[in-house]
Amino acid sequence: MKIVTIIGARPQFIKAAPVSRAIAEHNSLTEVIIHTGQHFDADMSDVFFKELNIPKPDYNLGINSASHGVMTGRMLKKIEEILIKENPDYVLVYGDTNSTLAGALAAVKLHIPIAHVEAGLRSFNRKMPEEHNRVLTDHCADILFCPTEAAVNNLKNEGFTNIVTNPSPLIHNPYSLPLVVNVGDTMYDAVLQFSEIAQRRSIIIEDLKIKPKEYLLATVHRPYNTDIPENMKSILDAFLEIDEPIIFPVHPRTKQCLINSKLSIQNSKLRCIPPVGYLDMLMLEQNAKAILTDSGGMQKEAYWFGVPCVTLREETEWVETVEAGWNVVVGADRAKIVDAVNSIKLTCPTTGIIWRWTGGAEDA
Ligand code: UDP
Repeated sequence: MKIVTIIGARPQFIKAAPVSRAIAEHNSLTEVIIHTGQHFDADMSDVFFKELNIPKPDYNLGINSASHGVMTGRMLKKIEEILIKENPDYVLVYGDTNSTLAGALAAVKLHIPIAHVEAGLRSFNRKMPEEHNRVLTDHCADILFCPTEAAVNNLKNEGFTNIVTNPSPLIHNPYSLPLVVNVGDTMYDAVLQFSEIAQRRSIIIEDLKIKPKEYLLATVHRPYNTDIPENMKSILDAFLEIDEPIIFPVHPRTKQCLINSKLSIQNSKLRCIPPVGYLDMLMLEQNAKAILTDSGGMQKEAYWFGVPCVTLREETEWVETVEAGWNVVVGADRAKIVDAVNSIKLTCPTTGIIWRWTGGAEDA
């Protein structure tokens, strides 16, 4: 069986790494990787291929830095050409980016079965590009690999009825009802596979001269925050007001927003650094006192590491983390962010994990 994997953005490299490894271990499976080029900087792409041992992409489309429609359209055209040439048995797409949607559209129009990893997530906010990307991809897919029961339930509510507990997708007839299966989270597989390697190899805590549990870790990159100057300003005001060291790896989109808006980030406690590799990020997360983020992946990683999380969005797809009391969703409101950080000091435990997703998603 030939599988074409389509990836293009940082979180997709992490989601795909354990699955590519599992595919490579299967004699009967061949993987062809298309990198759309959506993320292209060395610290947003190359470092992940290197650290996570992902095979070099067979195709790199180099498509980025354009509007959503242009980017998705260009990808669709190129991916279609490659799919016609490669004629795979399955197309594998991950998550919720323009690369995911372009891959799914190209495949469904060629009648090539699609498997969607991280299916069924919903924020119920259709203004988010991630939301319409994932809804449309789910409705093109033949196998929907869900990471949680909440995701399965979302799909049930959208009319998916073929929900199974035993994942045997390889015998699934792609022209029958789409198959929905909860396989767990491949990002959790990645955490399990790479945490110990990170402990051995990463020296970021020493490099930054920070002490475990004596700093906050922050990331911001969602368009809802970076493209709305008031939101970005409000978040930065909160960071400046919080009286704790904050390590802030700055995403390229956020860097551009800061340059364009000339927002001040002068403060000895707020340390802006370039985006870090996955191994360094695992160390920064585990050792943080709390994580402030609008990232989907980092909300989960905070939870898996037992670190309190303050989510800088109005909603989350990862409702389990909130229900467990580990994550508080505050949006971009300055006062709410500061309050949330202050109450974390008083109420949230900083160690111990109360519930986990099961590892093993990559085997399914
Ligand atoms: N990440 C990283 N370096 C960084 C920021 C994030 O390795 O400087 C990792 C993080 O640990 C998580 C993933 O990237 O595994 C999350 O990606 P991102 O926040 O870009 O996207 P989202 O999860 O919001 O889709």
